[in-house]
Amino acid sequence: LIHHGLDVGGTKVLGVAVDPAEPTVVLAEERIPTPSGSDGLLGALADLAGRLDDRAGTAGAVGVGVPGLVDHQGVLHTGPHLPGIRGLPIADLLADRLGRPVAVDNDANCHALAEARVGAARGARDALVVTFGTGIGAGIILRGSLLEGAAGFAGEAGHMVVDPLGPPCPCGRRGCWERLASGSGLSRLARDAAYAGRIDDVVALAGGDPEAVRGEHVTEAARAGSDGALEVIDELARWIARGLANLANVLDPGVIVLGGGLIGAADLLLERVRDAFAVRVIAGELRPEIPIVAAALGERAGAIGAALLLDQAGQPT
Ligand SMILES: [Zn+2]
Repeated sequence: LIHHGLDVGGTKVLGVAVDPAEPTVVLAEERIPTPSGSDGLLGALADLAGRLDDRAGTAGAVGVGVPGLVDHQGVLHTGPHLPGIRGLPIADLLADRLGRPVAVDNDANCHALAEARVGAARGARDALVVTFGTGIGAGIILRGSLLEGAAGFAGEAGHMVVDPLGPPCPCGRRGCWERLASGSGLSRLARDAAYAGRIDDVVALAGGDPEAVRGEHVTEAARAGSDGALEVIDELARWIARGLANLANVLDPGVIVLGGGLIGAADLLLERVRDAFAVRVIAGELRPEIPIVAAALGERAGAIGAALLLDQAGQPT
């Protein structure tokens, strides 16, 4: 029995074929650039499933993770990196085209499902999985199941407002968590520090132009012991911890898993986030410790989780 998991990213669609009983063993893998438009996206998903059929030698049921708001029927309502796509019934259209079951969910939910079943949150009944990339995605596991919400839109933690006077967000509000605590948040904090003259060494590393300072320059300088860069990392850790504490106060998770590109700097961030979280979560000194750990499954987590949207018989769960 084989399932295909397809993870739609901003630049590429990653597909894996896995045995759902042992989903961390990737039997076949294919990737194609993310096309634009509804027809392009559907065509790319069908093409990728076909390639995985060939590679795996069998037509597997298909799970798809997409960045955006996906309802219970597998309709993508809107996605920040998929301009022009509105109200696209991906599950129905792809199932018609491929002639097999298709399940569709939000990509961060897929990440969370994979980490909860076979990754860093394995064995935890209640878990919070947060992915820090350009933006922030979150998936909430309650009593062993994904929290979907009434419409299917639960888990949009990246647009939790943590600073009403903060930087504008493309969603139309100000101070959304993902404007301050993501990869782009780190770039923003770094540029602010650069213009304030607090990280001249990092600016030099970026070629002398404060506008050219990126997150990578800060992490590189921080690892080399730059005091200014480490202060920026401290600031980032506090923003991450503020959001995590808000979520933990509401959800009381048994474990918090942090994934995504930004957590490539786990060596710099994890301890700082834990310390900043401990003093911000309610009753931090009284409650059982909530472990904060790095994700285990890496860049394939979303695709593996998409394959897990189907039950053992290959039907959408
Ligand atoms: Zn927002």
